[in-house]
Amino acid sequence: MARIVVLGAGFAGLWAAIGAARKRDEIGASDRDIEIRLIDRNPYHNIRVRNYEADLSEVALPLPQLLDPIGVSHGIGEVEAIDSARREISLVTSSGKATLGYDRLVLALGSEVMRPDIPGLAEHAFDVDTYTAALRLEDHLVSLGRSAPSPGRSTVVVVGAGFTGIEVAAEMPDRLARAGLTGSRRIILVDPNPAVGTTIGAHARPVIETALSSLQVETRLGVRVASVEAAGVHLSSGEFVAAQTVIWCAGMRASRLAGSLAGARDRLGRLLVDPFMRVADVPGVFAAGDVASSVVDGLHPTVMSCQFARPMGRFAGHNVVADLAGLPLLPLRIDWYVTVLDLGAWGALYTEGWDREVKTTGAAAKATKQTINRKRIYPPMSGSKDDLFAAAAPTVQAPPPTYGAPRR
Ligand SMILES: Cc1cc2nc3c(=O)[nH]c(=O)nc-3n(C[C@H](O)[C@H](O)[C@H](O)COP(=O)(O)OP(=O)(O)OC[C@H]3O[C@@H](n4cnc5c(N)ncnc54)[C@H](O)[C@@H]3O)c2cc1C
Repeated sequence: MARIVVLGAGFAGLWAAIGAARKRDEIGASDRDIEIRLIDRNPYHNIRVRNYEADLSEVALPLPQLLDPIGVSHGIGEVEAIDSARREISLVTSSGKATLGYDRLVLALGSEVMRPDIPGLAEHAFDVDTYTAALRLEDHLVSLGRSAPSPGRSTVVVVGAGFTGIEVAAEMPDRLARAGLTGSRRIILVDPNPAVGTTIGAHARPVIETALSSLQVETRLGVRVASVEAAGVHLSSGEFVAAQTVIWCAGMRASRLAGSLAGARDRLGRLLVDPFMRVADVPGVFAAGDVASSVVDGLHPTVMSCQFARPMGRFAGHNVVADLAGLPLLPLRIDWYVTVLDLGAWGALYTEGWDREVKTTGAAAKATKQTINRKRIYPPMSGSKDDLFAAAAPTVQAPPPTYGAPRR
């Protein structure tokens, strides 16, 4: 029996595992011929892109419901090391240290928010990087809402005015209201760059600025966080902002475990993979999602996003089985790129193309965002093998739907 191990149950790993099971079925093999084993530190698939929302009730989907119907085994464990020469994974599970051998590996351990060595950051700052972190933030806001008024109780400092930080800040007025934190509310977005959304582009920036201003989100631009305390934040400008909630959203980096393989990496620590998702110079290893970078249209490398992680996963899953069976591999090619940025009660921003031309804004773009976040990126939860396999086919979806009149 051959064994395929998939590390990570996020957008790339989940779809790699389902895609592999689909291909195994297609070639008439069973789990007695090819074992597919998925490992994650958590027993759920996190719809990570929704971790900034207040309602977290549908963002952690139990893995057994998704994997049992298709004969994919799964284990809970912390991946500690990968030895690609011995084809072995080192894990820590609830029963202690373990090793797991593989014939083929799909590395899909994703990315994590970078936490620089700023005094007080580790102890006092929140983030929305994981479901656990998102729950912690929500519990904190709820408990502040029940506490007596005190300085900074209704002030939130969000650090990092990129995609995640903007979404977090824009959602915060509603979240504070839900938590009962309405009086003298302040939301402050801090970034070392001179403008918000510098990574999002010049077309989008005026829309973001309009939305933030209508949501009464203040900005502190061109400044860094010098230190964080339970009572607030010291900025490099000398200002102290009394804030009992500081949310760190500044910068993403690929899983450090990408560094345990010999393959070349980019400045985000991502392994360079070919159009078949194979890691260059590491036999038997595929990588997908935020841990990998692949040129998808002959020109542009993938962006860390679920938009790319999902198809990368489906193709990695298909190809890892095809490779094992000596069958032709399928290249991934994606000819479109969109971004959809949630702007809270103001609406959203929908852009198309690598120059991020604004197509729709406000309520129209919000409808697109909600279709993506609540439907399009969800796996079928019916428990039907056919539904799961149909969703895991190695194809590229059409761009998401747009609503309302295009913006002129
Ligand atoms: C708040 C927020 C909003 C976002 N919004 C958008 C958006 O609007 N659009 C978009 O396209 N993208 C968005 N993203 C980015 C998107 O979530 C990621 O690009 C996507 O999750 C990448 O998928 P992945 O499978 O590569 O990694 P992940 O989804 O991060 O999955 C990695 C998996 O590996 C597991 N894991 C990691 N390390 C270990 C270990 N050592 N041992 C065991 N298990 C491990 C994790 O538990 C996780 O299940 C957002 C991200 C955040 C945080």
